[in-house]
Amino acid sequence: MNPIRQIAFGYSTKCNIRCGHCVASDDSIPHGKMTLERAMAIIEQMARCNVTGISFTAGEPLIFFEDMTRLVKLCHEKEIYSRVVTNSFWAKTSEHADATVSALTRSGLSQLRLSFSRWHQEHIRRENVVNAANSCQKHGLDYFISFVTDFSRQDDSLEQFLRDNQLKFFPEPVIYLGRAKGFDPPRILTDYHSNTCNMNPYLSPELDMFACCDGGDQFKETGFFHLGNLMDYGIDELFKRKENNILFHLIRTMGLTNIASYLGLKANEIVQYRKCELCEKCFNSTENLNILEKAATSDLLNWKR
Ligand code: SF4
Ligand code: SF4
Repeated sequence: MNPIRQIAFGYSTKCNIRCGHCVASDDSIPHGKMTLERAMAIIEQMARCNVTGISFTAGEPLIFFEDMTRLVKLCHEKEIYSRVVTNSFWAKTSEHADATVSALTRSGLSQLRLSFSRWHQEHIRRENVVNAANSCQKHGLDYFISFVTDFSRQDDSLEQFLRDNQLKFFPEPVIYLGRAKGFDPPRILTDYHSNTCNMNPYLSPELDMFACCDGGDQFKETGFFHLGNLMDYGIDELFKRKENNILFHLIRTMGLTNIASYLGLKANEIVQYRKCELCEKCFNSTENLNILEKAATSDLLNWKR
C-alpha cells in the first residue's frame, strides 16, 4: 500500500505582517522565495510520487496571488488536494473577499485555512476573517479557522467573537519556537497522554525538506528533521527518508511521552511539557538523540505495554 504523502509547501517565507508568535517567518531565517517555474516543476514531480495533498503555507502565500492561482490550478489538474493558509489581509470588505475567494475556487482550491490569533489580529482586523469565511460559504469553498491561542483568559474575547459570528474554528496551541521562543509560556499541567504527532513534512523555498512543518529547521543543535535538499535528492527519496526513519515512526505511533519517559524524564516533569517542547527536549539534544538512535531498533521498539 502506498503511504499517504502530504506536504506543507513553502513557496515563500515572506509575509506582509509580523506576528509576535510566528514560527515560519522567524527573523533568524532569511526570507526566500522559489521561482514559479521551479514550484510548478516540483508539483509535477510530487504528482508522479503520489503526493495527494499540498498545503501552501510558510509566509503569506496570497501576497503572490497570481502565482498561487497557477499553482493551485496545477494541483487541481494533477488531482492533488490543495490548501492555502492565509492571514486574510485581502478580505477588507466582502467585495474584496468575494473577488479573491471566487478566483481561488475557480482555480480548483480544495480548502482555505484562515489564521486567527491575538498576534495576527494586531495587524489584521478581525472582521477580515469574517468576510473571508462568509465568502467561502457563499462560494462553496471549504474553510476553517485556525485559532492560535496560549489558552489564557486574554483570548476569551477572540474565541467569543468567532462563536458570535458562527464560524468554524479549531483552537491550536502556540508553538514556542521561532519568535515565540522568547515568550514566557504560562505553566500548564497536561494529562499524561501519549503526545503522538502526525509529522507533516515541509519544503522550504530553498528546497530543503524537513520531516516536520512546525519544528522543521528549528532544532538547530541536531538538525533532526532535515531530510535533504531537492537539488541533491529526488522527492521520492526524501519522502522515503521520512517514511523509513524509525524515530519518526515512533513519534507517530508510540508518542513523545513514552520516548521522554524512556530517556529518564520523570512523569511529574513530563506533564509540564507541551508536545513540541517535549519533542525538542528529546530530539534537539545531541546526547539524547545519540541514546535514542542507538535504542531505536532494539529497546525502544519494545518499550510498550
Ligand atoms: S501571518 Fe503567518 S507567516 Fe505571517 S507573520 Fe503571522 S504567523 Fe507568520
Ligand atoms: S511534536 Fe515534534 S514533530 Fe510534532 S509538530 Fe511538534 S516539533 Fe514537530
